Amino acid sequence: QQQRRLVSRQRFIQDFSQCLFEFVIQLLPTAEEMAVKEDVRKLLERLIRTIEPDSRLLSFGSSANGFSLKNSDMDLCCLIDSGERLNAADLVTMVGDLLERETKFHVKPLPHARIPIVKLNLDPSSALPFGIACDIGFENRLALENTRLLMCYASIDPARVRTMVLFLKVWSKRRKINSPYKGTLSSYGYVLLVIYFLVHVKNPPVLPNLQQMPPLRPISEEESHLNGYNIWFFDDIELLRQRWKSSNTDTVADLLIDFFKFYSRDFAYNTGVASIRAGLLKKEDKGWLSEPSDYGTARERNRLCIEDPFETDFNVARCVTKDGLYTIRGEFMRASRILQARPERAILALAQLCE
Ligand code: ATP
Ligand code: MG
Repeated sequence: QQQRRLVSRQRFIQDFSQCLFEFVIQLLPTAEEMAVKEDVRKLLERLIRTIEPDSRLLSFGSSANGFSLKNSDMDLCCLIDSGERLNAADLVTMVGDLLERETKFHVKPLPHARIPIVKLNLDPSSALPFGIACDIGFENRLALENTRLLMCYASIDPARVRTMVLFLKVWSKRRKINSPYKGTLSSYGYVLLVIYFLVHVKNPPVLPNLQQMPPLRPISEEESHLNGYNIWFFDDIELLRQRWKSSNTDTVADLLIDFFKFYSRDFAYNTGVASIRAGLLKKEDKGWLSEPSDYGTARERNRLCIEDPFETDFNVARCVTKDGLYTIRGEFMRASRILQARPERAILALAQLCE
């Protein structure tokens, strides 16, 4: 009987992997959607250049890191190459006014946010049934670099990494635990949890630690640092593909099941910090227990701790509240339960997960 159970479990794992691949493929943006978004980027860039001729408008976040779903928002970053420039808050106000006048977007400038941005929304139309949501930030070079880091991780093992990440993004949206404004975690936070798991938890690891690999040539302080943060990582993906071969042969289904198990019961939420750069760190050592906070007590702010890969003094999960974390862990447990329950059919398990 045990033998039979083992065989049926193996069959489930195989089917579930297949279902995950098929599920994720139909969630990818179409070539048409990507083309429209690229046109929008170019249009916005042209308009902003009437204010700042030396500016460039670059994509970051999901539209540039390989983790984009149909109708994801667009994250854009405006870089200004000339020495003299307006401050970000003034730019946000000016660009906001300009786009209000010249485009059909609903425009909301947020000049006083931690990172000043202009929020844009386009109403749905027949060509764009979901409209477009877009944020434009200014001089956010660290975000461009962390986008590039995630893109490199995605391209090392796209079949497993992208499938896991895309599934978790959809899952977290459907289960309503993907809203930093409501006390849960951003997509960026979930992606970091996946990479942390694949680099530091799985043994043998599925991914190398790109920030700790030896560089091919000596790197000067100037090259490796931006705003005082070390942004160096091994980014020669062609070479990496030749040199890095993970000895971990788990299927994507195995990995996802372990991911849910790990984050439902094994991760040290009370004391630990997940760092893709350095592995498991201690809240205490980072001073993330006693940091004063605008939102309430320090513990409230640092319930869940995920270190930003470059801005190491920044907790990506700082918005996660006590209730938010309770809900997120509850969802990890629910998912784990569904996948352990020896479901009859993989497709039903997947549907139930994302209910
Ligand atoms: P989605 O498709 O859900 O929009 P996304 O991959 O674009 O997902 P976001 O969470 O929107 O992910 O993040 C986009 C980018 O914004 C990230 O690559 C990161 O640079 C930056 N970012 C987002 N959230 C944070 C955060 N909490 N702390 C720091 N940077 C963040
Ligand atoms: Mg985004």
